Formats: sequence, C-alpha cells, structure tokens
Amino acid sequence: METMDEQERRAEWRRRKLRRERRKKISIIAFSVIVIVGAAAAIIVSLNGGKGGMSGSGNKKGNVQVSENTNGNVGESQPEETTPPADARTSAIALANRTAAMYDYDKAIEMVKAMEGYDSDSELQQLVAGYETKKGELVPWTDMASVTHIFFHSLIKDTSKAFGDKVAANEKDGYNEYMTTIDEFNKIMQSMYDKGYVIISLHDLVKETTDENGNKVFVQNDALMLPPGKRPFILSQDDVCFYHYMDGDGFATKLVLDENGRPTVEYKEDDGTITTGNYEMVPLIEAFVDEHPDFSYHGRKGILALTGYDGVLGYRTDPEYKDINSPHLVEDQVQFLKDNPNFNWDEEVAQAKIVAQGLKDNGWEFASHTWGHIHCGSSPMDRLQADTQKWEERVVPIIGATDILIFPHGEDFGDWHQYSSDNERFNFFKQHGFNYFCNVDGAKYFVQIFGNYVRTGRRNVDGYRMYDAIVHPESEWFTDLFDVNDVFDKARPVPVPGVVI
Ligand SMILES: [Zn+2]
Repeated sequence: METMDEQERRAEWRRRKLRRERRKKISIIAFSVIVIVGAAAAIIVSLNGGKGGMSGSGNKKGNVQVSENTNGNVGESQPEETTPPADARTSAIALANRTAAMYDYDKAIEMVKAMEGYDSDSELQQLVAGYETKKGELVPWTDMASVTHIFFHSLIKDTSKAFGDKVAANEKDGYNEYMTTIDEFNKIMQSMYDKGYVIISLHDLVKETTDENGNKVFVQNDALMLPPGKRPFILSQDDVCFYHYMDGDGFATKLVLDENGRPTVEYKEDDGTITTGNYEMVPLIEAFVDEHPDFSYHGRKGILALTGYDGVLGYRTDPEYKDINSPHLVEDQVQFLKDNPNFNWDEEVAQAKIVAQGLKDNGWEFASHTWGHIHCGSSPMDRLQADTQKWEERVVPIIGATDILIFPHGEDFGDWHQYSSDNERFNFFKQHGFNYFCNVDGAKYFVQIFGNYVRTGRRNVDGYRMYDAIVHPESEWFTDLFDVNDVFDKARPVPVPGVVI
C-alpha cells in the first residue's frame, strides 16, 4: 500500500541511507550531443544519434536477434548576425574540427560543405579532404560483448569534510565505501583516455528498429566507427539528485548552467557563499572533453540516473515540497523548507527543466533509478506500480522520457539468464517504455543484446572496490582501466569498511 511504502521509505531515510548501491548490479544508457563552441559568437550544434541492435553476451551468456535502424539528427544554430564574418568562419571551422575529433566525420564534412563559398574555397575543400582521409581510417567496433560500463556516485569535493569528524560515523563509512573523490576521478579518466577509451552511449551498442507489430527490436550496431586502438566504454552516475543528507559533507549542491549554457555545479562554501566549478562528474567530463574531444564518440558524455523523492539534479521538484505540512515529507525535507522560506516550487521546476535540457543538449542522457530508490527485484508489484506512476508524473515532465532503467541497490529482477517471457517485473517495465536495463556487476564485461531489450552490468568504481583491488591485487578489478595504487586517494580512512582483508 502507498502508506506502507511511505513509512518504509521514511524509516529507511531516518536510518540515513548510504547503503544504496548494494554493489551487485545495475545499468546504463545513452546519448545525444551538443557542442558549444564559443568565439565572439557561439555556434551550437547538436548531434543526436540513435542506434540499434545486437545480441551479445558478456562473460555470461547472450542471445541474439536482429533488426536494424539508425537515426541521427543534427541541429545547428547560426552565428549571431552581428558576428564579423571572419569570426564566424573561424568558429565554424573550429566546430567542424571538434566534431571530426569526435569521429563524426560525416557531420563535420556536411558542416564545412555548408559554409559560404565552399565551392571556390580551397582551404575548406582541403579540410574536407582531410576529414575524408581520417574517416577512411575508421574501423567498426564489432565486439559489443566487450564494452565495459563503469559508474560512480557523487564525487567528493572536500575529503576533509566527507571523511571528517563532523560527519556521523555511519555516513563517513558510506562515503568511503560508495563515493569516489575528485582526485581519483580525474586520474581514472586520464588513465582511461591514455589507454584509448572513448565514451559511447548505451544506445550505441545497438540499432533499434520495429517489428511488424510496432515493437522495438534491437540488433548489434555494426556501424560504431572508431580508429584502430580506440575502444568504447559507457559511463554513468547514480543518484544525481544532491540528496539532503549530503548537505555540508563536502559535495556539490546542484547542477546549473553557466553563462554559455554549459553544465556546471554549485558548491556551498563554509561561509555560505555559493561558488560554481568543476566539483562533480558532469563539469569534469565537460572540461575533459573540451580538452580531449576524441574521448567522446559523437559528443556522448554519460548517463545520469535519477530518483525523484528529493527532486532531481539538486532541485526540490517533488510536488510534496509544495506543502510544508505534507505528511509525506520527511525531516530533512521539512527542514529544507524551513531554511528556505522563499522557496517557490514552480520556479524550482522551471529551473530544473532548463538544466535538464541543457544537459541533454550537451550530450548527457538520463535514466530512471526509480522514484523512490526501490528494490526492483523484491518489492511487491503494487509498490513497483505506485513508484513508476510517481516517476512518470513527477520526474518525466522535467527530464523527458527515458528508456533506461538503472536498478537501485543494483537489484535486478532476474539473474544473468535472459529474462523469461513470464517475468512480471520485466514485462511491467517494458510496458512503461524501458528497453535498457543496467545492474551492478564487477565483471569487466556484461552486455546482453536480445531482440526486445538490452542489458549491461556496471562496475562500481568506488572506495570499496578500489580498496578491495589494492588488498586483493589478484582480483584485477581495474587493471584494464587504471593503476589503483596510483589512483586511490590517500585521504581515505583505511581499511575501507566492508572489504574483507
Ligand atoms: Zn542509487
């Protein structure tokens, strides 16, 4: 019943939730891009691609079916009319070069050919010739079963706070186990870039098409084109909601867009002032891809998995916040409203929508992490139904629909075998538009592409797993990605709780 759900949720809340991702399973998704290049004027190009199809198997098992379809689209806004032609040309070329660096040579060629005077401009024609040459060097990545998917939780901006004495012991343990520090994250991304990894979307694994009944069908994507030596990976982040319980513990507080429409985050300093900067995964990846556009396939960035009970992206958008007397509000939420007497729910929702669109425009995708962070494998069906209704009514209007479900607590509703046709939970989520499912799995690869859904495991790159990799080097948890002894933050208390030594 709804009431029981709420009670259960509140009880769990009061226990202070950190034991979230149970380190077992999870999932992913996919893509869309926008690149903003600023010069005197900004040119915005949005690249969007959809893929489709394949069947794969990780180190477990897979099955295959076929179908195909590709889609992509591009949007371009022209330089402002006041922009001097020379700057417009420079900006357009810079944008085309950036697009080409992201391996989207077709788009880059299209962009240059669309420039004024192309037919009589040898410089532009040489540019296109260069793109054609580079495009000819690409090879299709055909081993979708060997695409790894890694995920993070909130990044720790200030370790002295997260691991400090002002944080309750159980929370400190939780941060130590489940979170990753900014220093660690930066080292991991640099290492993966150096090893040739490139961010793709979950949707890039497959081509999507429809059968005669209008149902989506997935087959392996045979047109994921990368240069030899590069290899794709999928990146996601869970619980990008900036929960109340993390306030003051050394984490960013909300996602915002900067003056150029680029995603960044706010951070509340000790004296209460708000600063913005690269204090979270989103802006860190934005900055890294700015410097290394070849780290992003066609502008893909990552998947942000959201719940809804505390709102999304740091905005308190759940309708319960409209009434401080709502019996469904929990202590932290009521306190937030008391601390912010001028809170305007409509304005909050409006801002969240703008930021969500800005994220999508910059290549980020969203996944459902369920509204209430519920157990998808063990919660009663009526709870799944009630929760999904809240997701659809309270979150989808802000971020748009998504077909990716990232299991909270990593709790899948099936083992590694293909979901059976009588799997009630799978069928339920399929009916609600979900086609991509991601659990948590320590294995390097866990990719399944069946005709009617795609599933991946995800590797938790957190304090728990990294410390385990250090004390059990034979596990080789991360040897394909980075040197854990170099990455592991010395600011962490050790041993990290939960790791069996
Ligand atoms: Zn979670």
